[in-house]
Amino acid sequence: MKPKLIEYIRCIYCRGGLELKAFETAPRGGGEPDEIMTGLLSCKHCGAAYPVTSGIPRMLRDSMNDHGPALIPFLDKHGLTDAKKQISAKNELSPEIRQVKESFELQWEKWGMESRIFGMDKKENFDHVLANMFHPDMKIDEMKGRLICEAGCGHGMLVEALAERCGEIIGFDVGEGIRVAYARGNEFPNTHYIQASVLTPPFEKSTFDFLFSRGVIHHTPNTRLAFAKLAEIVTPGGYYSIWVYPIRGAAFETVTKAARAVTTRLPRKTLYHICRAIVPLLTIFPAYSGTSLKNSNWRQCSQVAFDFLAPKYQTHHSEQEVREWFEEECFDKIASRPDPISMTGRKRNVPTEKT
Ligand SMILES: [Zn+2]
Repeated sequence: MKPKLIEYIRCIYCRGGLELKAFETAPRGGGEPDEIMTGLLSCKHCGAAYPVTSGIPRMLRDSMNDHGPALIPFLDKHGLTDAKKQISAKNELSPEIRQVKESFELQWEKWGMESRIFGMDKKENFDHVLANMFHPDMKIDEMKGRLICEAGCGHGMLVEALAERCGEIIGFDVGEGIRVAYARGNEFPNTHYIQASVLTPPFEKSTFDFLFSRGVIHHTPNTRLAFAKLAEIVTPGGYYSIWVYPIRGAAFETVTKAARAVTTRLPRKTLYHICRAIVPLLTIFPAYSGTSLKNSNWRQCSQVAFDFLAPKYQTHHSEQEVREWFEEECFDKIASRPDPISMTGRKRNVPTEKT
């Protein structure tokens, strides 16, 4: 964690500002402040505690339960008894969010460092983001000095790809896969990584000049709510872009729904092996991303199958529906982008006009 990240993050319960206590640091060199490897973030308003471990702020409801025990020697040494008590507090993740978290953790643990993910390498991913996530009014050369967020950054290839071309960029993701994203891109002086959920994003309202989220919110228990939670942290005048799964033909929807009724109940490690075996099916049921053996190797194709078959929650949407979401959250200049359903809009300058 870079010390300046604290300017941008807030308590997930009350949106209070946070205080940082650093326990272990590592030199970054090049005149940059030391990296905070282990520490504690505390809400100045409600006292909620969030651990920092392996250089990453952990900002889920159960983060103190998961990561707090590793901090106990430091909490004892510094007399941080209130924070220590929160390790046993009843701050469990909901079973729904836990399912999502664990599914993607395994995915990025197994495939997060592949050179091609969803059929694209870093350069192709960057071009894809430019074509599908950038609003027609945005120009990449204007991104320097802007505050950018990728909500649900997964493997982290996009944060890494954008880092050299933009201002501060924050990627957050619900699972331990955030360690992969961190490993990929934390060397840049302007990249930041947080473990957090799109349903409880740890930011003040109206924070980001540009927020994008690709293939994430449709994996939550409430896609529309996740859309709204992200919309509210975009600043008026800022841009918001998402990609969600489109509704396809009836045959595709029926067959895949039946298949997922089975696969989402399988032990994930069993499904991992099944996905290695069913790669040829991508020629019959093409992946949304277009990933196939023509642009990826067998192993990389199996990741795409896993990505589709493992997460319990997966919703499909029409263009009209997504357009209405943008309108309801006070966005204008709404534009569809080429890859269905990619859509982007600009937040209106008068956020209180919402009725
Ligand atoms: Zn708080």
